[in-house]
Amino acid sequence: MKALRYSTVGQPPTIENIPVPEPVGGQVLLKVLAAGACHSDEFVMSQPVEVLGALGIGLPLTLGHEGVGEVAALGPAATGVEIGDQLAVFGGWGCGRCHTCATGAEQYCERAATLGIRPPGLGNQGSMAEYLLVDDARHLVPLDGLDPVIAAPLTDAALTPYHAIKPVLPKLVPGSTAVVIGVGGLGHLAIQLLRALSDCQVVALDIGADKLAFAKEMGAHHAFTSDDSAIEAVREVTGGKMATAVFDIVGIQPTCTLASRMVHFQSEIVVVGVGDGAVPVGFFTLPYNTVVRAPYWGTIPELHEVLALARSGTISVETETFALDDAATVYERMHARTLRGRAVVVP
Ligand code: NAD
Ligand code: ZN
Ligand code: ZN
Repeated sequence: MKALRYSTVGQPPTIENIPVPEPVGGQVLLKVLAAGACHSDEFVMSQPVEVLGALGIGLPLTLGHEGVGEVAALGPAATGVEIGDQLAVFGGWGCGRCHTCATGAEQYCERAATLGIRPPGLGNQGSMAEYLLVDDARHLVPLDGLDPVIAAPLTDAALTPYHAIKPVLPKLVPGSTAVVIGVGGLGHLAIQLLRALSDCQVVALDIGADKLAFAKEMGAHHAFTSDDSAIEAVREVTGGKMATAVFDIVGIQPTCTLASRMVHFQSEIVVVGVGDGAVPVGFFTLPYNTVVRAPYWGTIPELHEVLALARSGTISVETETFALDDAATVYERMHARTLRGRAVVVP
């Protein structure tokens, strides 16, 4: 089968021919229908080999941690799904047995590191291929009519902001303001989720007129250039009150610093972007009682909820589709910041 593989540190990924994997035990083989491209793939491809090793990522690696497919074959012990079922893959694989996994938050599994369990595309072989091996049917959620191209980004680009936003909702009362920094794959869904799930004012920050216009199309009340001038802009549109929550979906030092300067007392700074930035917490560094969090991905129950939000039309995904043979160009476009919404590879 064809697969988009990252094989050599510093070199672009290439399409290779590799054997179709065979499911054993409780594994499920999916024929991939759609695979989303996340900025975290670019993060992986920008790291030296020692960091990849520490993250449990060996090369060559088939990329892709957003996946949707149709069941093509079942391991002898696989139960709960049938050949032909169309399913979305929950990628934050855990052991399924520890206390945390029992809550559905398998992405925070207590034993995954010890047991060497890694997500597809981030250690295990990923979805940018004709077939994908899934470790267990409990990591598969029925599409129930959703378009595979839309469903693939829901498994991360929507699930991750949903998991980031949901705990903050009680604070996002009418009259409050949430800021979203970075209006890409995750950010355009973060804006829609905030609009759908709360009555807060939504302010988006990005770079470039096209991105700011896109943010407004997605429902942002205001969109400003992501630089120091945004602090005064946020002060103005909040009547001096500043933001109750900032979702930094870039995570570099300039955006973390911006986030820390845009909040008022008792606010939340949620760092979602995998950058090298940090928000220093200390008595004099942030307004009183500011909460700083860096959540990872989302839970299995939340994936069900996100798929339901898309089925009801509450959120929609902006996609650009690419053939598997052209998948490497997706990352060139991502690097050039010319993608609109999520790039989805259709094998
Ligand atoms: P993307 O490439 O689709 O979008 C990134 C957006 O950020 C683009 O619109 C770009 O113009 C904008 N941007 C770049 N620099 C900026 C700046 N200084 N200020 C404001 N905007 C800026 O990326 P994505 O796939 O949406 O991923 C976003 C980030 O989230 C990445 O760092 C990714 O690794 C991370 N991520 C984290 C998790 C998690 O579990 N925490 C999950 C998925 C992705
Ligand atoms: Zn991702
Ligand atoms: Zn576990």
